[in-house]
Amino acid sequence: MTDLEALYRDLHRHPELSFSEHRTADIVVDKLVSLGLEVTAGIGGTGVVGVLANGVGPTVLLRADMDALPVLEDTGLEWASTDTGVDHTGRTVPVMHACGHDIHITCLIGAVESLVAERAEWSGTLVALFQPGEEHGGGARVMVDDALYEKVPTPDVVLGQHVIPLPAGTLGAHSGAAMAAVDTMEVTLRGRGGHGSRPETTVDPVVMAAATVMRLQTVVSREVAPQETSVVTVGSLHAGSANNIIAAEAKLGISVRSFSEEVRARMLDAVERIVTAEAAASGATEVPTIEFGEQYPVTVNEPAATARTTAAFVAEFGADRIVDPGALAGSEDVGNLATAAGAPLVYWMLGGADPETFASALAAGTLDADIPSNHSPHFAPLAQPTIDTGVRALVVAAREWLD
Ligand code: ZN
Ligand code: ZN
Repeated sequence: MTDLEALYRDLHRHPELSFSEHRTADIVVDKLVSLGLEVTAGIGGTGVVGVLANGVGPTVLLRADMDALPVLEDTGLEWASTDTGVDHTGRTVPVMHACGHDIHITCLIGAVESLVAERAEWSGTLVALFQPGEEHGGGARVMVDDALYEKVPTPDVVLGQHVIPLPAGTLGAHSGAAMAAVDTMEVTLRGRGGHGSRPETTVDPVVMAAATVMRLQTVVSREVAPQETSVVTVGSLHAGSANNIIAAEAKLGISVRSFSEEVRARMLDAVERIVTAEAAASGATEVPTIEFGEQYPVTVNEPAATARTTAAFVAEFGADRIVDPGALAGSEDVGNLATAAGAPLVYWMLGGADPETFASALAAGTLDADIPSNHSPHFAPLAQPTIDTGVRALVVAAREWLD
């Protein structure tokens, strides 16, 4: 059997950015081949899928994402990363497994190993999918667009997990809308530049941008029902170069988060309407352009499938270790793998925080300050019992759905 902790430490020490997961993919390919799976590499760039056809029965897809983040690690772990990588803009940046995808890979390798060892006890088809580019670039969609389901069997259910700062040893899925959709966009407002002393000859994009930013705040407060959760953030605003020049254009970087497709569509319509109308109100002669970046759907845990999988978890781990993490404002693209297959998704959260530290922080009311979140330079899930729990969760969930 693979030494999973050693595998985890090695992956952690050598993180790779989105779509650069070459070393990681090679390790995964070697493991899957040695376990006797039929392996297809290079799906959507660095994606890897292993298939174990084990007689008649349902097809179950288990998913792990493989990429790391441009974060300078500050965990102090003996196996901390000091690696750098080249990001999508060509910059050299520090790289760290700050979202725990190294845990996901390790757990899925461990689960495949167990399922291969137990293959006489189940029948069906196991699809182990290792996805590139979850953090950047929409790797699930890229794999689907690279004819994923012509290259490997289409699943009847898609299962996966994400490590988060819940106590290690606990896990659970939130039924229904479990993670937010995110739509990112860059808006270019075009005015007419000129001398700072002669505003009458210009259309000032700074004033246009300011009015737009303020008006965009009314999308959540005036257009979305109070029962709904949503966010509009203008995270960047750039215009101009000097105090005596009126710029010709302004750029806004916007992200919109929502938990239902209806709210999402309504918010995107509102953003476009406001951006266009504020430009017209300013006297702009050009309509602003909106360029969409990352767009991830709402992560929806299909209720019946979630109930069935959760019942299997309760039977395996006991009810006291199963939690409902609630709906999370973070976003994921695992849903694209399920939607493209027409299959239900069950995506659960896996605890990775030290249970004692977590309990004392909870008691002191300092959870947010004391327990590092995903993407923090201090994010360091406990290797155990996190890995064992994650492996067993994948095996239990898969066995629940296989014959
Ligand atoms: Zn992440
Ligand atoms: Zn992640």
